[in-house]
Amino acid sequence: MSAATRHRIAEDSPRGLCRHRDLATLRILLFGGICLVSVGRLGAQSPTSSAGARTGINDPSLDDRVESILRTMTLEEKIGQLAQYSAGQPTGPGTGRTDYEDMIARGQIGALLNVIEPHQIDLYQHIAVEKSRLHIPLLFGLDVIHGFKTEFPIPLGLASTWEPAIVERVSRAAAVEATADGIRWTFSPMVDIARDARWGRIAEGAGEDPFLGAAMAAAYVRGYQGSSLSAPDSMAACAKHYVGYGAAEGGRDYNSTEISEHTLREFYLPPFHAAVEAGTATLMSAFNSLNGVPASANPFTLKQILREEWNFRGLVDSDWESIGELVPHGIAIDGAAAARKAFLAGVDMDMASSVYHDHLQQIVTSGEATQAELDEAVRHVLRVKLALGLFEHPYVEEAAAPKALYHPDAIALAQSAAERSFVLLKNADGPAGKPLLPLASNVGNVAVIGPLGDDSSYPQGVPADAGPRVSFTAALAQRLGEGHVSRFRGTGILEGTDQQIAAAVEGAKKADLVVLALGEDEGMSGEASSRAHLGLPGRQQELLQAIVGTGRPVVLILFSGRPLTVSWAFEHVPAVIAAWFPGFAGGPALARTLTGEVSPSGRLIVSWPRSVGQEPLYYNALSTGRPPGKVDLTRPPFGTESKYVSRYLDEQNSPQFPFGYGLSYTAYSYGPTRISKTQLSAAEMNHDSGDQAAPVLTAEAEVTNKGSRAGEEVVQLYIQLRGTSTAQPVRALKGFQKITLAPGQTRQVRFELKPSTFALWNDQNKFAAEACKVKVWISSDSTTGAAADLEILR
Ligand code: BGC
Repeated sequence: MSAATRHRIAEDSPRGLCRHRDLATLRILLFGGICLVSVGRLGAQSPTSSAGARTGINDPSLDDRVESILRTMTLEEKIGQLAQYSAGQPTGPGTGRTDYEDMIARGQIGALLNVIEPHQIDLYQHIAVEKSRLHIPLLFGLDVIHGFKTEFPIPLGLASTWEPAIVERVSRAAAVEATADGIRWTFSPMVDIARDARWGRIAEGAGEDPFLGAAMAAAYVRGYQGSSLSAPDSMAACAKHYVGYGAAEGGRDYNSTEISEHTLREFYLPPFHAAVEAGTATLMSAFNSLNGVPASANPFTLKQILREEWNFRGLVDSDWESIGELVPHGIAIDGAAAARKAFLAGVDMDMASSVYHDHLQQIVTSGEATQAELDEAVRHVLRVKLALGLFEHPYVEEAAAPKALYHPDAIALAQSAAERSFVLLKNADGPAGKPLLPLASNVGNVAVIGPLGDDSSYPQGVPADAGPRVSFTAALAQRLGEGHVSRFRGTGILEGTDQQIAAAVEGAKKADLVVLALGEDEGMSGEASSRAHLGLPGRQQELLQAIVGTGRPVVLILFSGRPLTVSWAFEHVPAVIAAWFPGFAGGPALARTLTGEVSPSGRLIVSWPRSVGQEPLYYNALSTGRPPGKVDLTRPPFGTESKYVSRYLDEQNSPQFPFGYGLSYTAYSYGPTRISKTQLSAAEMNHDSGDQAAPVLTAEAEVTNKGSRAGEEVVQLYIQLRGTSTAQPVRALKGFQKITLAPGQTRQVRFELKPSTFALWNDQNKFAAEACKVKVWISSDSTTGAAADLEILR
């Protein structure tokens, strides 16, 4: 994983690290197999279904059991349930504590993290269950971010599939592996909206859009938690980092955020709400300050929104020492004040900073916090432990563990998820006068050049102790024949010599085609990995230019945890694929993609910048009073239009590639967007605007595969609202369907829109529909398509 946290675990250990109503797709065969209709129902604000029949923390039968345990607990035991320590490789500054066995026996610890060996987990668990007075089991947590042993693509890649069903299957597979080793709690999904590619943790989330982010958040929760949280292969999810963490100033990790309530509700909260609706057992409070109040001491978000508005009944864990860090934040003078502020704001459990352990007793006995408040926090912890069935099955079944790891189905899923996550950014004609990709069967000799062409910089995931993995170069050689693939490193990721570059150039000259594997290494994104420069690191740009200079046709594969500003490459290289970090099976997945066994179907979930100076960059920006048209930078000083518009003098406003963009090995055309009505009455909009509401409008468009091979297209529905009480995004995603089209096939793609699709956070911070004009697009990305006009009446 690219998260530094997980990375650190990995260094120390072997690879440490829709039944869903709204997006359900009905496919109805219409005209003798030529025209198909796909229907997606949209619940609007968040495309999630409720937890439904799934059992978890909201199960009312847990309440009596929680109360009966609570009645037997001493003050010290209650506080113990709120303390969590890292007993393995620390994933942040350490506390220095090592006396866990004694503390567990005294009931002073509720949870541990980073213990990954089953026997170690069992050792601690036996102490908790057999030696502590109340026999309350411990909860073991870990950053299982994109797989446990079988490494799946990073979350940015997973969400680029635009397939919540894949994300759900991946997180299910991760849960099966991690729980077999005794880990019943994952600190995932990260559902932070990320609008700035400088922020390294953009790699860990689902990008910039709240609608897509909500769909993915719910999918992760469903996958980890399964249909019953008490099943031995289910693990508690943890939606993090609540909230606003992705808006860190300047993209610098851990930095302050200023987010108005409107923006918070419209953009940053929906994925968290979706996770809560899907039944997430836990949430993690973030490091950042939010409008001056650190998120781990923020009663507005932690109490008012989370508990009162959303009725969340699970556990809020702090991030690593984020309670202790209230002191350097400057809102607490010492650990005692930090503990008091976080506790009163609604953080139930203290991860690693030990300030609850050290000070909560005094805080409660002095009356600064009440017994009732303490009981409530303990209830949240006990409810999660009971819902997980830990009291009945506290121990690891060690014999079962090896069978659950690297299951062939999980490896096949890792490969398919990777194949579906790649985004084909460019595919211009090669020497044969047709698109360079897929490679022609008579491609000849291929040179794989660049630091990321094999496993040495682990683009396909952290090097493993075991488990079948095939590097990209080896996988390509398997397909093209050993003698047809040569390998030159060219440069390292951060360093390289003139001789290495010269050798690669010579190798390129002898080849018929070059595949360049360039990018970041895994540690360059994730936690504490912000970057001010988003180009190719080290000497890779030089290598790129030297190879392109040979005149050989070049396919560029970019491995990265974020979009990279490589405009030169987009201008001079005919074919470019964003492969993100594709995980364990990324090698074969890429080889199959290049040779055309599969066609790329991923689409961008982040706007791809031209220059770092454009960041933060996101498609769903609010309309301004002075929107720019297309800027003609070839006509300095100010192009063809007025200077006095919202734009740069020296750069386009538009991204290199927009949100939603991606090519396939075939091409699609879209008919106009058609809607079933052009007006909606206030009465229609007023009835229950929740997920249960009946659709009020149908929008549809014909999508045709114009090419000669089958492909998958992500059909996207956007709206724009005008005349509303608050300024609204120029476009906002409200639906998507990934469909398969045979060559020449046309499909009528239909979306059924509910009233809540058109609701917005108004000037009173209420979520409601307003009389306004609406544009509706069905399109292949966030910039194209022909809109239909609609009016919502007063
Ligand atoms: C990260 C969290 C992670 C935690 C535990 C922190 O540094 O911000 O995302 O879950 O460590 O590893």
